[in-house]
Amino acid sequence: MTLDTSNPTIARPIVLIVDDSPDVHRLLKARLRVEDLDVLSAEDGPAGIEIARQAHPSLILLDLDMPVMDGYEVLRTLKEDQSTMNIPVIILSGLQNAQDKVTAFDLGAIDYVTKPFDIAELKVRVRSALRMQQLIQMLSQRAQIDGLSGLWNRRYFDTRWTEEVSRGARHGRALSVAILDLDHFKSINDTYGHPAGDAAIQGMAKILQAACRQSDVACRYGGEEFVLIMTDTAPKDALVLCERIRASLEGTIWPMHPDRRVTISIGVAGSAGACDATPDAWLHTADQNLYTAKKSGRNRIVCSELPTNTTGKLRAAG
Ligand SMILES: [Mg+2]
Repeated sequence: MTLDTSNPTIARPIVLIVDDSPDVHRLLKARLRVEDLDVLSAEDGPAGIEIARQAHPSLILLDLDMPVMDGYEVLRTLKEDQSTMNIPVIILSGLQNAQDKVTAFDLGAIDYVTKPFDIAELKVRVRSALRMQQLIQMLSQRAQIDGLSGLWNRRYFDTRWTEEVSRGARHGRALSVAILDLDHFKSINDTYGHPAGDAAIQGMAKILQAACRQSDVACRYGGEEFVLIMTDTAPKDALVLCERIRASLEGTIWPMHPDRRVTISIGVAGSAGACDATPDAWLHTADQNLYTAKKSGRNRIVCSELPTNTTGKLRAAG
């Protein structure tokens, strides 16, 4: 199964060069262009830190001797910030003495290359740092992916959902969440066997991935239950997306049981603007809507809008 961009993938690496010398930028850009990576540039420390926070590069090549803010200070700042602390940093420096190297490694650099550098050697070191970074990324993603469906797992959802709720509240943005539960799943398992049940879960995962936009986050919540985070999405738009998912599943023919359709019930809770409901309260509403959908005949969506709050709007305006 190919995963789309809304789901776990290893992206093309970005290398950020932080150096006050335009010559270094020109040389490295020209020589790294042939590698399979994107290059970003910053000509001083503060700009480098800002780009690192925004673009999350896979690797930073950092000069030590720079005006405004030296490389040690940049490195210290990067390592203190949770969003940049895990980005590997290779120091590129004209400083040759052992104490400079020791300080750089103590601050968390993974490698130290002295200027003038041999470009072939630097490329090898860049490649090796990127390979290591990709392995670490793969391992940490694997721990967050559900093995059967290929979607994000519950652990990932729990963290991500809390983040999205506070982001939505902070910026006064629309947000919706859906809990989706396959109808009569036990009877599919009992009638056609567990492989048919697994196929239903995998088929549903594919439908979710196909329907999702890049900003949506599709997760397997557990058993036959899925959860979908829709950022910047008001409940009325969430309803449209969920209806597409519901109809697509209902229209699917299953090779293991061609005359038995699989359907899903969906509970949605959303807010068109700032909302101060807690992550749990939000899920509770979606779950109650799911319960109502099940009770009123299944294969349907029940959606409700959480009240927007004025404090949130003021906070967003300020
Ligand atoms: Mg310099």
